[in-house]
Amino acid sequence: MPIYEYKCDICGQVFEKLVFSSGDEERTLCPKCGDKKVRRVLSVAGILGSTCAKAPTGFS
Ligand SMILES: [Zn+2]
Repeated sequence: MPIYEYKCDICGQVFEKLVFSSGDEERTLCPKCGDKKVRRVLSVAGILGSTCAKAPTGFS
């Protein structure tokens, strides 16, 4: 099962979560502020390699 990395839109907290199913993903909450406005981000290696890359879609 994959471990995904998430970032909270509210407080910016980045955390990892084991995702057992797609439904489980929808219930992901920020461990810091408890908000569900979190977005899945790429792996740590992906983040480090794309610091200057384009902004993620769906964020306006
Ligand atoms: Zn948060």
